[in-house]
Amino acid sequence: MSVCIFCRIAAGEIESKVAYQDESVVVFHDANPVTPVHVLIVPREHIENIMALQEEHSKLMGHMLLITAKVARELGVAETGFRLVTNTNRDAGQFVPHLHWHLLGGRALGWPPG
Ligand code: 5GP
Ligand code: ZN
Repeated sequence: MSVCIFCRIAAGEIESKVAYQDESVVVFHDANPVTPVHVLIVPREHIENIMALQEEHSKLMGHMLLITAKVARELGVAETGFRLVTNTNRDAGQFVPHLHWHLLGGRALGWPPG
């Protein structure tokens, strides 16, 4: 059994509110949402963060972007707008060491980020 929380969520060992899933990607609602719409786009493969990406992941990353657009449309933020964030390492506050993109929307977001 994996000790990685997102591997365990992807495997269905830990419950989550799934918005979309297929053979390579799972999208689920964040347990502590910071915006009205806050889902995480997560590859099933354990990849620590974008610094661990290899050429072989190119297709998977493109697929994740297409899924992001599909989910944004389904969750009603495609027109109003949303932000895609991938926290990487310490200064960004990456808490879970399994690559994930936060899709944040449903209200106006400040810029620059804190
Ligand atoms: P980051 O690693 O980019 O800082 O953020 C990790 C995100 O995962 C946080 O927003 C946190 O609320 C979310 N999270 C952590 N553990 C769980 C969990 O068990 N279930 C769900 N749905 N979200 C989680
Ligand atoms: Zn993992």
